[in-house]
Amino acid sequence: MKVLKLPKSNREEFVLALTEFGEVHIPKAKGKESYIFDKMESPDEIAWEYLRTIAPPKKYMTPPRESLLRYNTAEGYREVNAEYEQRMILFGLHPCDIHGIRILDEVFSGEYNDTYYFQRRKDVIIIGLSCIPDDKCFCRSMGTDFVESGYDLFLSELHDSYLLAIGSGLGDQIVRKAEDYLRTPTESDRREYLEIRNRRREQFEVELDISDLPYILDLERESEVWDDIGAQCLVCGSCSMVCPTCYCFNVYDQQDLNGENGERLREWDACLYKNYTRVAGGETFRDTRADRVKNRYLHKQRHFVEEYGRPSCVGCGRCVDACPAGINVVEVFQRLRGVA
Ligand code: SF4
Ligand code: SF4
Repeated sequence: MKVLKLPKSNREEFVLALTEFGEVHIPKAKGKESYIFDKMESPDEIAWEYLRTIAPPKKYMTPPRESLLRYNTAEGYREVNAEYEQRMILFGLHPCDIHGIRILDEVFSGEYNDTYYFQRRKDVIIIGLSCIPDDKCFCRSMGTDFVESGYDLFLSELHDSYLLAIGSGLGDQIVRKAEDYLRTPTESDRREYLEIRNRRREQFEVELDISDLPYILDLERESEVWDDIGAQCLVCGSCSMVCPTCYCFNVYDQQDLNGENGERLREWDACLYKNYTRVAGGETFRDTRADRVKNRYLHKQRHFVEEYGRPSCVGCGRCVDACPAGINVVEVFQRLRGVA
């Protein structure tokens, strides 16, 4: 892998050079303490020190609400083309979010290839950015605190510069175009990287032991912990909506009043909602809140592991931040393990 150096004094020019390759979307401040990914109007808006955005970057591949097809009684139906008009450059994604996209790539390319997802995904350029964890991050426990692939470029922050790793041919093209802003790393940059990287490993305050978690979850299926969490949960669905790896959706048709025109829509959904578990005939398989909360946890850390060989949680801490009932995913697993 080729690694270059971007001095901080050149970073705004570097980001401006990206606009030649597509529409640049960046982490921006939203209010005093929140961040969102949004279209860049100026490099001044980049929140270089942000930690997590409210919504994850999955919204660029699978939007909260999208039209799948449109129909009318005279002409039949036509599928909607989900392609972007130009490339989307997602700038500043942290390793956990890049892992989140890798997980979605795998899910949506499975038995039922999702063409809508991939029509957008093929035009998404990913430029990663390193970060320093807070008291909600547990990506180190999930093995997602570092990313070795799945990006076009990745910036690792040093004191006065960034190391810039090139992860794809497109990343290489960008670097060639922006070569005036880049330098060759020195021995002291490499030492600085190691020092910062090793210090970062020590900064994680939260740890989740996932070694035999699927087994523990099988053993504790009837634990009273689920009843406690079910009683606390407000079933708002926020934890699913903000999760970079939750991918459940609902599909329904919306027709105009004369019945001639309509469209088929897909919307983010959540297994926490009772309606999600309702099937034809009105039967609901996960009737209680406790059952639905348990299902979400089991899916992330047990069933997904069985199917894909890894959990579908990247330890981003968004659900901890978003939960109005104060439910903390790490504490739930620790309680089930009997260590909290
Ligand atoms: S379950 Fe929570 S911590 Fe894990 S990836 Fe989803 S939002 Fe992030
Ligand atoms: S965010 Fe909290 S209260 Fe809302 S559904 Fe998730 S666990 Fe329940």
